[in-house]
Amino acid sequence: MKFVCIGRNYVDHIKELSNDRPSEPVVFIKPDTALLESNKFYYPHFSKDIHYELELVFRIGKIGKNIEAKFAHKYIDAYGLGIDFTARDVQAKLKDKGLPWEKAKAFNGSAFISDLKPFDSALLDHPIQFHLDLNDQRVQTGDSSLMIWNVSELIEEVSTYFTLKTGDIIFTGTPAGVGPVQIGDKLTGFLSSEKLFDLTIA
Ligand code: ZN
Repeated sequence: MKFVCIGRNYVDHIKELSNDRPSEPVVFIKPDTALLESNKFYYPHFSKDIHYELELVFRIGKIGKNIEAKFAHKYIDAYGLGIDFTARDVQAKLKDKGLPWEKAKAFNGSAFISDLKPFDSALLDHPIQFHLDLNDQRVQTGDSSLMIWNVSELIEEVSTYFTLKTGDIIFTGTPAGVGPVQIGDKLTGFLSSEKLFDLTIA
């Protein structure tokens, strides 16, 4: 499986990083080795500025490519939350030089996925709210209706380039409020008011 991730999908997050609003979705991929296999994230030695990014994630339930947005819901079988851990210092250097982001975004353990919930296409008719607490303080609040491209449009875009396979995970981008983690921190993710995960930084 792979993680297909979207950058710059919320206007308020684009502003906080002083990025330009893209004319098409920014897409990058993490390999299966990026999956964080437990609820403990070990701070990697190659970075001094690891950031959390809370995102809505969707799991692909059947293989497809060149999927039209209007049929995209048929390809989703579960959804939940994920953390797209980012080595912001490494990313800044790579962005400066116009180089690919993989070292900053796709390293071991950089993709955390909560327990997932069964998906029903009716879910896409309403905004999905989510939030993240860092040491019990609210740091990120998200709402799917504020995405520049919704998940159906994202699936159409990414499946133009990449065949989506059963079990692949789409990260849909992070809202504003990203920030650094320190060893000992606790991250708690909520979908609406339901707690979906606790994660510690070690
Ligand atoms: Zn992200």
